[in-house]
Amino acid sequence: MNQAHYDYLVVGAGLTGAVFADAAKKAGKSVLVIEARDHIAGNVYTEPTEGIHVHKYGAHIFHTSLEPVWRYVNRFAEFNNYVNCPVALYKGTIYNMPFNMNTFSKMWGVVTPDEALAKINEQRAEITGEPQNLEEQAISLVGRDIFEALVKGYTEKQWGRDCKDLPASIIKRLPVRLTYDNNYFNDRWQGIPMGGYTKMVANMFGDTEVLLNTEYRSFIAEHPGIADRTIYCGTIDGFYDFELGTLEYRSLRFETERIASDNWQGNAVVNYNEREVPWTRIIEHKHFEFCLNDQGEPVKDAEGKPVTYITREYPADWHPGDEPYYPLNNERNSELYQRYVERSKQDGDIVFAGRLGGYQYYDMDKCIDAAFDLVKNELGIDLRA
Ligand code: UDP
Repeated sequence: MNQAHYDYLVVGAGLTGAVFADAAKKAGKSVLVIEARDHIAGNVYTEPTEGIHVHKYGAHIFHTSLEPVWRYVNRFAEFNNYVNCPVALYKGTIYNMPFNMNTFSKMWGVVTPDEALAKINEQRAEITGEPQNLEEQAISLVGRDIFEALVKGYTEKQWGRDCKDLPASIIKRLPVRLTYDNNYFNDRWQGIPMGGYTKMVANMFGDTEVLLNTEYRSFIAEHPGIADRTIYCGTIDGFYDFELGTLEYRSLRFETERIASDNWQGNAVVNYNEREVPWTRIIEHKHFEFCLNDQGEPVKDAEGKPVTYITREYPADWHPGDEPYYPLNNERNSELYQRYVERSKQDGDIVFAGRLGGYQYYDMDKCIDAAFDLVKNELGIDLRA
């Protein structure tokens, strides 16, 4: 360590930690960042592999309608013009996502928006009243045919429970459109940082001191009082040794494979919507960058031969100690989280932040936006100005 004492200890070198560290440094504060993993950038970490930026913790596509956030990230990276248009494979047929005229046309042979709407209306009639769960919500949005083919299997694999036992809110993330528009997101801005997310986050940290492979618990035991204040981006229940109970998550498992091909699946993201297929999707990373390397040339291996990397994404039950990906924001967990927040108010010199600290299913832009609030509260700096 460069110093015996710091103004801030930031625990976690992901997006939240990077936004905070950058602002604190510019405000003249001294900052030490510690990170349990052997790399920075948290779950947005990309690893350069034979000219391809491999998204090690699943596909991350930056999209936002928050202008200050878009302006902010563009200070640290140039974004390419990637637009996410995933496709879904069900029983040998490819459907466009999100649910749009291409999907409806393939499913029902309809051509016009009126024809599609008539089909949806006919099928959604089975739901009367306000949808009470994900299944009812999905049927009332797109009808039973699409629910059965494209929602049910995928969702039940992803969340490990029946669609009737899941909140309607999960499916409301997905747009439903009566246009032939395959863009997965409705946001104003979208893209992938050129050179990879890791480089963008490294630019955010700049010369901030970051200690990798450093667990908070043992570190703080050895260095009590290292900083005046702590920004803690890990899990809040873990911090308190699960004394009030354990917050639940869904986890994921990734299997990455090298294949000697220029173009293995023709798209960055292919969802596998059948329940019987154990993975939910396959990512072919090079398509996030139009199959070009950082020099703008077609990706080839060292001998000039075809190469690609794919990653199968398997949903997984979460057990304490596993990688926590998605918070399970049900009533029990939300209430328990609030009790931890109350508990944390007894500790005046620590703030819980980020996806894990805030127990939120954040997209990257919402994560950065929440970090802007943290910066405002903690440092009095308005990054939205
Ligand atoms: N979903 C679905 N079929 C798909 C893709 C998504 O039913 O082919 C549903 C599923 O319930 C999922 C939710 O939409 O949990 C949100 O999907 P999104 O792609 O936004 O999830 P993420 O990429 O954050 O895992």
